[in-house]
Amino acid sequence: MSGAGGRPYLAIPGPSVMPDRVLRAMNRASPNIYAGELVDMMPKLVADLCGVARTKGHAAIYIGNGHAAWEASLANTVQPGEKVLVLATGRFGHGWAEVAEARGIEVQMLDFGRQAPVDAQAVEDALRADKAHEIKAVLVTHVDTSSSVLNDVAGVRATMDAAGHPALLAADCIASLACDRFEMDAWGVDVMVAGSQKGLMTPPGLGFVFFNDKATDVRRTVPRVSRYWDWVPRTEPELFYQYFGGTAPTHHLYGLREALDMLAEEGIEAVWARHERLARAVWAACETWGAKGPLRLNIADAAQRSRAVTSLAIGKPLGEELRQWVEAHMGVTLGIGLGMQTEDDPRSTGYFRIGHMGHLNGHALLGVLGAVEAGLSALNIAHGDGAVQAAAQVLAAP
Ligand SMILES: *Cc1c(COP(=O)(O)O)cnc(C)c1O
Repeated sequence: MSGAGGRPYLAIPGPSVMPDRVLRAMNRASPNIYAGELVDMMPKLVADLCGVARTKGHAAIYIGNGHAAWEASLANTVQPGEKVLVLATGRFGHGWAEVAEARGIEVQMLDFGRQAPVDAQAVEDALRADKAHEIKAVLVTHVDTSSSVLNDVAGVRATMDAAGHPALLAADCIASLACDRFEMDAWGVDVMVAGSQKGLMTPPGLGFVFFNDKATDVRRTVPRVSRYWDWVPRTEPELFYQYFGGTAPTHHLYGLREALDMLAEEGIEAVWARHERLARAVWAACETWGAKGPLRLNIADAAQRSRAVTSLAIGKPLGEELRQWVEAHMGVTLGIGLGMQTEDDPRSTGYFRIGHMGHLNGHALLGVLGAVEAGLSALNIAHGDGAVQAAAQVLAAP
C-alpha cells in the first residue's frame, strides 16, 4: 500500500513550499508593465526586502537564481585580477569561488571542511598576512546548504576589524534569509546575496543583491561593469524597466509581494523563533534516531547548525534508499546529499537533507519526521525509538 496519494510535500532545501496565498497572488492576468499597480508597488517592495535583510542599504533585483546573485555581487565590486578571500564550509562556498574564478578573480580559499564552521583565527591570520590589502572582499556563506553549517557572520566582521582590514564583507544568505537570524547592518555586512525560492517562499527566478554605502563607493571605482549585472540602474531607476534590466518578472513580483506581507504579518522575530523551534524539533528527532543505528547529524554542535536545513549522514546507500522510499510511499520528497561525496561514495548517497525553510508549521514538520520514521522502519535501518515523540515534545514546550 502506498501512502503517497494526496498533496505531495517538498522537504528539500529549496525551492521551498509555496504558500497558497503566494500561488493565488500569482494567478492573474498579465499586468500593465508601463503604469499602474505593478509600477507603483516597487518602492515598497524594495523597502520591505531591505527590512527582511535588516538593512537601510540598497537592494538590486535580478531575474535569475542564486548563481545570478553570486555573479552580480562580484561584477559590481571586484575586478578581474583582484583577489577575494573565500571561507568555504561546504559546497556552496566553493560554488561562489568558482563564479569568482570564472570572472578572472584570484581566489584565496580557506576551506574549513564539511562539518565545521569558519574558524575566526584562521581568517584573522589570513587577513593580517595580507599587508598590501590585496584582498578586496571576504566571501562567507551564512548557511551552507550542503553541510547545514551556520556561520558566525558577525564574528567574521569582528576579525576583519581586529585585523584592520578594509575588504568588503559579502555574505551568501540564499538559504538562511528569513529562517536564521541575520542582521545585515548590525553585523557589518557590506554585500549580501539571496534568492526568492527559499525562505522567501516564492518560485525560483529572482536573485537579490543587497549592499551598503561602502559597497556603493567600491562600485564607483570599478571601471567597467557589464550592463546587465550593473546594480546602479536597478537601484536608481528612472524608468520601471531599469529595475530589472528589461521586462519585469511580473508574476514573481506579485508572489514576492504576498510573501513579504506574510513575513510582515508574522513579524521577522517571530519567523526566526518559529524556525528555531521547528529546527530544534528536527534535531531532537534526529538525535533520538541516532541513539541506535547509523543516523548522525552532520553538524554535531547545535550552536553551529542552521535553522533552515539539516544535513544527515546515514551511510551509503541508505540516504538514497530512504529518500526514494519516503517519496514513493509517503509523498514526501527529502533533499539529496550534496557535496558530501567521498571516493567510496561519489554521489553522496550516504547523506540526505531535511529542508525546513520558509512556509512550514508544526504539523507539516511532524509529517516529514513521521515519514522518515516510517522509512527507517520499512527499510530495517536501525534507529532509536521515540523520535517523533521527542520532536512533538519540543513543539509542545511553552
Ligand atoms: C540554493 C543556494 C545557492 C544557489 O542558488 P540557486 O538558486 O540554485 O542558484 C547558493 N548558495 C546557497 C547557500 C544556497 O542555499
